[in-house]
Amino acid sequence: MWSNHINYDGIMRTHQLVLTWIEKQLSDGRLSVGGRLPAERTLAEQLGVSRTSVREAIRILEAMGVVRAGVGSGPEAGTVVISDPTAALGSALRLHVATQHLPVSDIVETRILLESWAASRARADAPELEQAAMLLDEMDAVEHVAQAADNFLALDVRFHLAVADAAGNAVVSAMMGSLRESIQGYTARFTANLPDWDATAQRLQAEHREILAAIRNDDGARAARLVAAHIEGYYQEAGVNPAGEGPARPR
Ligand SMILES: [Zn+2]
Repeated sequence: MWSNHINYDGIMRTHQLVLTWIEKQLSDGRLSVGGRLPAERTLAEQLGVSRTSVREAIRILEAMGVVRAGVGSGPEAGTVVISDPTAALGSALRLHVATQHLPVSDIVETRILLESWAASRARADAPELEQAAMLLDEMDAVEHVAQAADNFLALDVRFHLAVADAAGNAVVSAMMGSLRESIQGYTARFTANLPDWDATAQRLQAEHREILAAIRNDDGARAARLVAAHIEGYYQEAGVNPAGEGPARPR
């Protein structure tokens, strides 16, 4: 029984009991992706908690991308275990960046850490590199309209995700995917600081193509150096010091 494994000290809130029980089922392999949680009433009786507590726990797990709550009855009903870490991590990171507790300069350093590692490990024949090359062509074709920089940067972040995916590490991919919105958010905010967007876009594209070429030539060390310089260069140009205090105030 669960009570043999969990030390209930009277402080834990009842929905946390349900969360702890489900986590234990997952880590023990008794529940896995595609599996279903017991019915709400069964779970409440088994754990000796209210159905409200079970519902609260399931709502939390849903927000974390761990389950999809089911409706109705029949074999397709019930709460199913899923695995969608990227969406949940992404919205959590975006919110914490919004509260200013995750400094942009720290996101920059994290990007350099993850992306230079990924560039050094990306396989020269990874199918994700085809997608990365297509994204570069799309960036070249971005129309000169008012939101050109935003359109470009949306494709730019997808290029970086594709390169990270080419390393074939599911955890690094999930972390990069979760940073996506934060990256897009602050890079777009900094375009106001750039003296000449067209010149910046051309330079970024030249760097992207060099990164891709280094990976395709199986030169991981060069690809890693280039991607780090590419990320740092943009922040410096936008008036941000990656090692320092964060973004310059927009003028
Ligand atoms: Zn880029």
